[in-house]
Amino acid sequence: MTIASRHRLLALASAIALACAACSQQPPAPAAQAEAPAAEAVPDSSPDVHRFAIGAFEAAMVRDGDITLPNDGTILAVGQPRADVDALLQAEGLATDPLQLSIQGLLVTAGERVMLFDTGAGAASFADGGRFPQSLRAAGVEPAQVTDVFISHAHGDHVGGLVDGNGQPAFPNATVRLSEPEWAAMQADAGQAALVQAIASQVDTFAPGAGDVVPGVDAVAVDGHTPGHSAYLVKDGDARLLYIGDAAHHHVISVRRPRWTIRFDGDAPVAEASREALLARAADEGLAIASPHFPFPGVGRIERREDGSFAWVPAQ
Ligand SMILES: [Zn+2]
Repeated sequence: MTIASRHRLLALASAIALACAACSQQPPAPAAQAEAPAAEAVPDSSPDVHRFAIGAFEAAMVRDGDITLPNDGTILAVGQPRADVDALLQAEGLATDPLQLSIQGLLVTAGERVMLFDTGAGAASFADGGRFPQSLRAAGVEPAQVTDVFISHAHGDHVGGLVDGNGQPAFPNATVRLSEPEWAAMQADAGQAALVQAIASQVDTFAPGAGDVVPGVDAVAVDGHTPGHSAYLVKDGDARLLYIGDAAHHHVISVRRPRWTIRFDGDAPVAEASREALLARAADEGLAIASPHFPFPGVGRIERREDGSFAWVPAQ
């Protein structure tokens, strides 16, 4: 199946899901069913939802789709000899071509707040994404319940899901939070004018690296990928989880070789230094990590190898 036909199928499935969600609300359900907690109606075994905890916060990774990239020395390991890239992948038992990235966002429920970290690709044509709304519902959350959407950066596979298929805000009751320089760059990008107009009234910006953007969430400035790229540290008590955004893209290439150039990085030397520094921090502090692009669910930790490099250790 081509990506385009898959998209059409996904769009159709989405439309059907929305239609069924609407029609299932009428006629009113019998009292016994109405009293059942909504979460019980949700299959907990959805392959697109991975639940976990951050202290007392309920969290879930919510799957959007995939990105497939050629291993041709132009994207994830720019200018590196193919044999070196292949050897790195083969050592981890991975196919060498094409390269696969997952797309997922993070859902955190903390008291009255229902928080998302990135929103998937929506209708972005370069990705085989768009499952985010269905996955979110499988996690037991309706889009209108979301109170805060934290954006790591304004690339399409992270902000595409901010609007629905009609270009209207997908999370109408949420504050959309991103760094001041990222919002400024987004507003200056003519290609994102429609998205900017759609979400402008929802946006609240913060200074790069701001602590407690909301209680329990620090922004972590990770420079180089985009003008105001942010990771986020979610904290409850002693529990910590670092949502890394696009500080790293591929769980082997980006982690084992953080200094290899990635075409998506706007300022590659700065991004490479940032990537290496963030991996070092994650390893040294033993932080739980959530990644939007590592193999689903993208939850795990970073460890140092004896040669000074890093490795991704997915959670069991
Ligand atoms: Zn991305």
